Amino acid sequence: MRTDTPRPIRLKNYKPAPFTIDKVSLDFQLDRTATRVTSRLHMRPNPSADTPTADAKSAKAKSTRSAKGSKAEASTGTLVLDGELLELESLKLNGEPLPRSRYRVGKETLTIRQVPRAPFTLDIVTTCNPEANKALSGLYVSRGMFCTQCEAEGFRRITYFLDRPDVLATYTVRIEADAEAASTLLSNGNLRERGTLAEGKRHYAIWRDPHPKPSYLFALVGGHLASIASTFTTSEGEHVDLRIYVEPGKEDRCGWAMDALKRSMAWDERRFGRAYDLEVFNIVAVSDFNMGAMENKGLNIFNDRLILASPQTASDATYAAIEAVIAHEYFHNWTGNRITCRDWFQLCLKEGLTVYRDQEFTADERSRAVERINDVRRLKLSQFPEDAGPLAHPVRPASYIEINNFYTATVYEKGAELCRMIATLLGEAGFRAGMNLFFERHDGEAATVEDFIACFAHVSGRDLSQFMIWYQQAGTPELVCSLDHDQAAQTATLHVEQVLPPTPGQQRKKPLHMPLALGLLAPDGEELALKLKDGDVVENGIIELTQRRQSFTFEGVRERPVPSLLRHFSAPCNLTIDLSDHDYAFLIAHDRDPFNRWQAVQSFVTRTMQRFITAARTGKNPGSADQLIEALRAAFFDRKLEPAYRAELMRLPGETALARIIAHDIDPDAIHKGCHQVMRAIARALGPEFEKLYRTTKPKRTYDPSAEQMGLRAQRLAALTLLAYRGEAADKDRVVQHFKGANNMTDQSAALYLIATHVPAARQATFAAFHERWKDDHLTINAWFAAQAMVPTASTLERIKTLQRHALYSATTPNNVSAVVNTFATVNPVQFNRADGEGYAFLADEVLKANAFNPQLAARLMTQLRGWKTLEPQRRKRAQAELKRIAKAPGLSNDVFEIVTKMLD
Ligand code: ZN
Repeated sequence: MRTDTPRPIRLKNYKPAPFTIDKVSLDFQLDRTATRVTSRLHMRPNPSADTPTADAKSAKAKSTRSAKGSKAEASTGTLVLDGELLELESLKLNGEPLPRSRYRVGKETLTIRQVPRAPFTLDIVTTCNPEANKALSGLYVSRGMFCTQCEAEGFRRITYFLDRPDVLATYTVRIEADAEAASTLLSNGNLRERGTLAEGKRHYAIWRDPHPKPSYLFALVGGHLASIASTFTTSEGEHVDLRIYVEPGKEDRCGWAMDALKRSMAWDERRFGRAYDLEVFNIVAVSDFNMGAMENKGLNIFNDRLILASPQTASDATYAAIEAVIAHEYFHNWTGNRITCRDWFQLCLKEGLTVYRDQEFTADERSRAVERINDVRRLKLSQFPEDAGPLAHPVRPASYIEINNFYTATVYEKGAELCRMIATLLGEAGFRAGMNLFFERHDGEAATVEDFIACFAHVSGRDLSQFMIWYQQAGTPELVCSLDHDQAAQTATLHVEQVLPPTPGQQRKKPLHMPLALGLLAPDGEELALKLKDGDVVENGIIELTQRRQSFTFEGVRERPVPSLLRHFSAPCNLTIDLSDHDYAFLIAHDRDPFNRWQAVQSFVTRTMQRFITAARTGKNPGSADQLIEALRAAFFDRKLEPAYRAELMRLPGETALARIIAHDIDPDAIHKGCHQVMRAIARALGPEFEKLYRTTKPKRTYDPSAEQMGLRAQRLAALTLLAYRGEAADKDRVVQHFKGANNMTDQSAALYLIATHVPAARQATFAAFHERWKDDHLTINAWFAAQAMVPTASTLERIKTLQRHALYSATTPNNVSAVVNTFATVNPVQFNRADGEGYAFLADEVLKANAFNPQLAARLMTQLRGWKTLEPQRRKRAQAELKRIAKAPGLSNDVFEIVTKMLD
């Protein structure tokens, strides 16, 4: 917690650690309130420490380990270790107890003076209190289970250490605990030994991880757990034992995660030539967890919502999320663990790249078009608003106060887009060659973004220095495009301007290097061959932008074509081009790029909704939606479409998406009204077709998580949803019957949410039925919390406050808080943005409550208000008042302080 204004950490101040830690031995005596940790560190001065390293160079952690300490003489002799909330019991240097005069215990450090210039050992004994740890960082207890979370800076809450990612060591870990309460004892690497003590009352396990790793990848688990097991044989012929550990009784919900794991292992071998490198791969599901999951070496720890799945308890969305996150964490084994980050500014090096890899996995396993649509939908809903608001930061930030605030959509999702652009620019083979070089050059090291980009420059022979600007410059570029047609010359000229909006601290920007994928469609719908006038060929339909303004003239264009720009969303930009309703209808009918076809539907719906929203505010006549409806009729009921893709086309932009596009003086009531009018018009006009689609789409009665079956369920639910907007008695009844007839959570939860939002008369009975069915399941009940937070009526705020006193609600369990608070803030914009400001007051109260025990959770909740400046003046004032109340509160954590300061700036 903060006492005065915290100082930011800056990328440009990076210095290698003054000492290395080559080897670590840890001994844990697990105890709920006083766990004793005995640590032996084999240390020596870092020979490369006083050579000033340019930001661009990697820490070369591997080579410093083997180098004979030639420059060791120059080390300072003072060692500062990180440590928080620890009781120091004893301290020895080279086996000798240290006198008090040689060290000082600070609030966040242990400083030892006059350490030797030769290699030495430190023996440190500390205790910590896992049960009191509600921050869920370090060692804590979740539903009776001991577990750890060390990224980014949690290891220092376990023992004193150089807790930074460029200090790589091998770990041996001995865990001792009560044999009954903690029958399972796990840590990273391979199991070396286990045994019993005290006549079987206690037991121990010894784990050794041969791969040098930074402390943030350390993990430990102790608890009474059940597991499922499987095996995998790598392409190198190594046999790997796979295991997933869960609360006893939940083993039957682990099968899908295991299946996803094996497919991930095979995919990384096929697609990137990367095989697994330990005897075992363990996964543990825990209930109290700050994020989705964590890639600890050989011991991934997951939020239980991303492991546990059965047809009855998990929806298709959950099944898909489990598959993607299992893949993501597994892929970190190479991108993150074998090659780690030099410092936390390089976070996108592992996260952006690993998101790109998990997206590619999903694209290969399921539908590439559907995956791309979902990637972009997520990017636009989460990253674009971040980039357009007070929390905007580059994919590689230049400074931070609290690193936990930078696990953002920008680092993850935009970071993935940057990798994707490199792949687009270099082609798949070029990208793979660059990745191979990256693994070859930096395996076992802590690397930088420059190291990464240099590999692609090397294999392609291309200059990627302008591309680097993407990592340094915040904000979403806008591509302002126009197309001229010259009838006489039979040419079409595309003009593109990069408009780079200012972001906090970055007023003027440089133009970026990006691929623009495009097509030109002749009036008959045929795709024109792209021939540039200067003779350049357009390879794979991609032109490259490098300047603020550029024009491209295409030859042999007899009639005015319709441009299809930014195909497959080839660069993370906002596209502006003046297309008519007719052009959109044309693209919807003819574009052969499935992504842009979807985009055309979105754009056409969006502009129509905007017209209705404006009308709702001004009282003017909105006109009709007939043109849109006819275009949708042609799009939705095209027989050739895959059901999963049709379902994406039918998922129309919602109120949050519209608010993002309107972006100023937002009136949530008007947006609600305008969106609903358009949805209702579509549903009325196309109702009979939707009814038929609902009736004739027949997923198998037994649940199957295959892409094909998910597609059928999604298509059927898309029809059910649109019909709910029509709102006739039969439509409401259909939803209620769907709920009652559901035999899986996909159908059950979809109908539950539709009843919450569209069928007032059935709410009470439905909520009661759902509660009765799931009241003993701490995970599945979150859908019940969420459904009630969605109800678009004025009583909802009071209702969710009551829910927070429910027996299954725990204020310290992020999944519960998120189900209530995040659902309310994101899915129920009209009630969250109540004109009286009570929604904002509620959020502020939640932030302050969480600030006291879990700063990461508090800071994340607060980002729900990051768009406050785009609200209409009355609401803006009320939101600002709540932010100011937070800013003034005593005892603010660094996390909340940093976010609230930036938001009010
Ligand atoms: Zn990750």
